[in-house]
Amino acid sequence: MLAETVSLKLELLCNGVSFSGEFLEYFQLRTDHIEKRRAYGTGDSIILNHGTRTPQEIILGGQIIAAANYNPDSNYCISLEKQIPVLKIGNRTVKITFPQRPKSYGMHLSNSELFEKHVTVYGNSTLGIFSPGHCYYFNNGDECKFCSLGPAREILSDHKMRIKGDIAGEAVATAIKEEKGRYKRVLLNGGTIPNYDKGYSIHIDLLERVKETNLHNTLEYHLISMPPKDFRLFDRFKKNGNNMSMSIEVFDPALFKEVCPGKARDYTRERFLAAFEAAVEVLGRGNVYAGFVAGMEPLESIIEGIEFFGDMGVVPAVAAFHPDVGSQYSNRQRPSIDFLIKVGKKMSEIYHREGFQPLIEGSGRNSLDTEAYLGGFA
Ligand code: SF4
Repeated sequence: MLAETVSLKLELLCNGVSFSGEFLEYFQLRTDHIEKRRAYGTGDSIILNHGTRTPQEIILGGQIIAAANYNPDSNYCISLEKQIPVLKIGNRTVKITFPQRPKSYGMHLSNSELFEKHVTVYGNSTLGIFSPGHCYYFNNGDECKFCSLGPAREILSDHKMRIKGDIAGEAVATAIKEEKGRYKRVLLNGGTIPNYDKGYSIHIDLLERVKETNLHNTLEYHLISMPPKDFRLFDRFKKNGNNMSMSIEVFDPALFKEVCPGKARDYTRERFLAAFEAAVEVLGRGNVYAGFVAGMEPLESIIEGIEFFGDMGVVPAVAAFHPDVGSQYSNRQRPSIDFLIKVGKKMSEIYHREGFQPLIEGSGRNSLDTEAYLGGFA
């Protein structure tokens, strides 16, 4: 059953989803289902009319979260059958559900701003804070070529550009109070600023503040960030966070330079590798993650990367590429299902050998991590 559900998730990641007209009509009125919010990227191949609510995620088999990345050409169509949402693939029909819309969406915080301008619920159980909502690599066209943060923020997002610790802490407390038991963690992520040490320190300041306001609950705190240049800052993270991910995205050196020109020029691959080593020394094996995008390099090189980091005690975290409108790779092909299965199997092997855990278990809508951890690629 798990293998079947995981296989369906892979099919969705390799194809995207389309929506029938009747489903879209239904979804505009079903405000109990979570709608797509774009704190980070556009996520879709094209954008439906501005203001049309579409689902952010789909729950498969009652347990696996998959992204609902819109692709009008996909044969995987979310439709209705007897007024109930289903996924149609030719003659096959699969029952699906959606995460509930958070009770805290629509609520006003003490500064009179809406909760969702500060915090986005991600993958059903994660409270996501994305700050800053700008990445300086976009200033000169040196952004990672799969990334659509710039256009998403310019056109489609109503999120705050810079999130303040006090109000984010209040938002997290509100979410927990409204829905006890739902949220497992806070995930902090953000664009890059030219001063890497300052950018990293601002993340930790924010995290510290949010945690201080929420000491009474059992949330975990995760950070996805560019590494600092001063590795002593990892000690500061250790005092506040549970684990941390740094996204190298592509393992092959030449393709890293090609796909992530800003990172390659201003931070460099060599410094990235040194940062991973230093971070493992401080945080320990299994507490540092290396983010990859599957679909940027040949199978052999991503597999080599997964093995390389696994040996180092760094957990490989892999997300499947989706061609986002507004990104430089908006016309690039998604990875094939066979490719993702091979990557997933290798991750599974390394996770089990090393005793690794997924970064945000059960919540990564585009990622293979939870599925690899559960052995869903067997
Ligand atoms: S570092 Fe790359 S992936 Fe991250 S926000 Fe900047 S351009 Fe996007």
